[in-house]
Amino acid sequence: MSTSLVLVINCGSSSIKFAVIDPQFGDEVLTGQAERLFSEGAEIAFKQNGEKTRVSLPNAGHDEALVAVVEFIQQQPGLGESIKAVGHRVVHGGEFFRESMLITDEVADKIGQCNHLAPLHNPANLAGIETARKVFPDLPHTAVFDTAFHQSMPAKSYIYPLPYKLYEENAVRRYGFHGTSYRYVCVQAATMLKRPLEDSAMVIAHLGNGASVCAVKNGESMETSMGMTPNEGIVHGTRSGSIDPSIHEYLAKQLDMNIDQINDMLWKESGLLGISGLSNDCRTIEEAAEEGHERSQLALEIYSYRLARTIASMVPALGRLDGVVFTGGIGENSDVIRAETLRQLQFLGIDVDAARNKATIRGGSGEITTDASPVKALVVPTNEELMIAQDAVRFVEAAQPVGAE
Ligand code: ADP
Repeated sequence: MSTSLVLVINCGSSSIKFAVIDPQFGDEVLTGQAERLFSEGAEIAFKQNGEKTRVSLPNAGHDEALVAVVEFIQQQPGLGESIKAVGHRVVHGGEFFRESMLITDEVADKIGQCNHLAPLHNPANLAGIETARKVFPDLPHTAVFDTAFHQSMPAKSYIYPLPYKLYEENAVRRYGFHGTSYRYVCVQAATMLKRPLEDSAMVIAHLGNGASVCAVKNGESMETSMGMTPNEGIVHGTRSGSIDPSIHEYLAKQLDMNIDQINDMLWKESGLLGISGLSNDCRTIEEAAEEGHERSQLALEIYSYRLARTIASMVPALGRLDGVVFTGGIGENSDVIRAETLRQLQFLGIDVDAARNKATIRGGSGEITTDASPVKALVVPTNEELMIAQDAVRFVEAAQPVGAE
């Protein structure tokens, strides 16, 4: 076991995902998840050396759960002493943070000032930070922001065509998310494309339950499909992605829905779930489509079409295109979505190799276009935890901000 490990914490509103990681090689020494916090059924599952341990913690909140995680760590011989830093995933850094930051009282205060931009996530992230700083007072704590990577976007990408004072006075602008994933994936992809990162132009599609696309030029985000919130852009598992904003008014007037009801519908009942009427899970939808379920077929069709349309719309931000890269649960595993999307992007010079595409699943990475294809398509498994761990460990030696590669 390495003697320099990082505890990575991702605190959600009712869950905490955590992992103890070797930042050099990415080995996960311990992983786990606390779920159903603040309820009778709260529990933590630990996974170590392939073995699972469950601990029931009725009504535990973030504090109790993190204390239980620390107790578990301290019971494992040598593990506690090997942890040299803590990395925290933080969803929203607003315009304050362009890079990962060593957490001081001032940084924590600024994260709190972004709460209004991510009211479900940032307060939970902050609760995790505050508890972890109490439990590990002697270790450096680093905040790694989902939004930071996109702070390089030019104004033409991030300003909405709305009254400008909404940007100046109310922080209404496009921020983008999945930045930690894009930062990791673009480095791997540049190597696979045999290009220096500083001279590369790619579109990356991170397709998980939430999904987005990013134009990365020379290692910097130029444009992305998510906006002020993670709902803008392509079709998600349960979220609508971009729709005509005036549908809100129609629903309010015709169906007498209030803003919370409309919002719930757009965030929880739309996307793949809304179209298929069956599931938000791409695997389930693919199986149903195979068996002839028409709305699942339609859901896949709309998903791939909107994705292809959005990928193509990213090219003006790049000026040229070296590759299209797929990542996230769907991007890494669904050869069906990849094939259907890329079929519609042939005009860009993408020539898919059907056998390579089919063979690249379950954590595999590789090129899925023919050797002669002018523009490449790649699959690159993301690793946000490793990225967070690598940012965090750099503060052990140098107390400086770390940012995009
Ligand atoms: P999250 O955004 O929650 O991190 P993931 O990146 O894990 O999500 O992606 C989850 C999505 O990946 C789900 O829609 C799931 O169905 C899809 N997925 C996972 N494996 C496969 C597969 N073999 N084929 C198609 N979709 C898959």
